[in-house]
Amino acid sequence: MGRIYNFSAGPAMLPVEVLQEAADEMLNYKDSGMSVMEMSHRSKVFESIIQEAEKDLRELMNIPDNYKVLFLQGGASQQFAAVPMNLMKNKVADYIITGQWAKKAYQEASIYGKANAIASSADKTFSYLPDCTDLPISEDADYVYICENNTIYGTKFKTLPNTKGKPLVADISSCFLSEPVDVTKYGVLFGGVQKNVGPAGVVIVIIREDLITEDTLPGTPTMLKYKIHADSASLYNTPPAYGIYICGKVFKWIKGMGGLEAMKKRNEKKAKLLYDFLDQSKLFKGTVVKEDRSLMNVPFVTGNEELDAKFVKEAKAAGLENLKGHRTVGGMRASIYNAMPYEGVEALVEFMKKFEEENS
Ligand SMILES: *Cc1c(COP(=O)(O)O)cnc(C)c1O
Repeated sequence: MGRIYNFSAGPAMLPVEVLQEAADEMLNYKDSGMSVMEMSHRSKVFESIIQEAEKDLRELMNIPDNYKVLFLQGGASQQFAAVPMNLMKNKVADYIITGQWAKKAYQEASIYGKANAIASSADKTFSYLPDCTDLPISEDADYVYICENNTIYGTKFKTLPNTKGKPLVADISSCFLSEPVDVTKYGVLFGGVQKNVGPAGVVIVIIREDLITEDTLPGTPTMLKYKIHADSASLYNTPPAYGIYICGKVFKWIKGMGGLEAMKKRNEKKAKLLYDFLDQSKLFKGTVVKEDRSLMNVPFVTGNEELDAKFVKEAKAAGLENLKGHRTVGGMRASIYNAMPYEGVEALVEFMKKFEEENS
């Protein structure tokens, strides 16, 4: 069997060109006589891999010099603790609850200080984003936290909340490099790379320098201190070396495609094909209000659980895999990250048309 269209929310598809290049270099990376997996992270060869990855990411996202880029382990979930441990000087932070990942981050922060849920869309199963133009930001809040693209529910902040001068911290795991971003509007951006950037095992943190201090909460593990990693250029201990190498290849792939503007156009075109079909379908229905729809994760339902299950099963047999929705939403979810080709979404929509004809 050949490669299928994988609509998984993560780990997700990677560009074929990247996988092929990695395969070609697997046994002997650039005449080093070894695989990147076997290489010392202190070697010259690996140093140039991580430095070039950082340089390319900075170029792609237009990251200003007063921001550090850290390649870390522990996934996005570990950042749920690292953020409050490093940033909660007053032990107060405001959280906007737009789904499970935001809620988990909020719960984790509550262990370390006073986390305030200042807005939420839980009342309608997170199918929209709350109005964030004039929120009751706490006077002494150390930061305001959002999950920018809600992987499970398929919503995305199109405009950032008004934080009234407080640093904005954003989990960008599932919209990483999907479109241009103005880094200067954030204090911290972080994302697990396994959704849109690379293999599981790497989390990238982009953080404004003034937020990196020695003054962390008592008991903060050395490995969770941003300063430790920033001072040693992500080489305090053994980094997730092979994962960083693949991320570097993905950065080059995106540059080759024309950068983030081009990525956004491509992603808009893919998402439009699917959303336009959903909007006119008599069988399938998108679950998110139009203005908050994500370009990356598209949940939809038929309204009939048995039919949903039949759809997922028959789609799989047709080479369209991992379309089952998250258990809290039900139905289906198509994750159409950067590496999903337009043809994949076309194949999905064609399949949905056929399924609709056969089942109504
Ligand atoms: C997947 C995901 C996470 C969890 O990432 P891990 O790397 O598994 O910890 C957190 N936030 C968002 C938005 C996600 O999509």
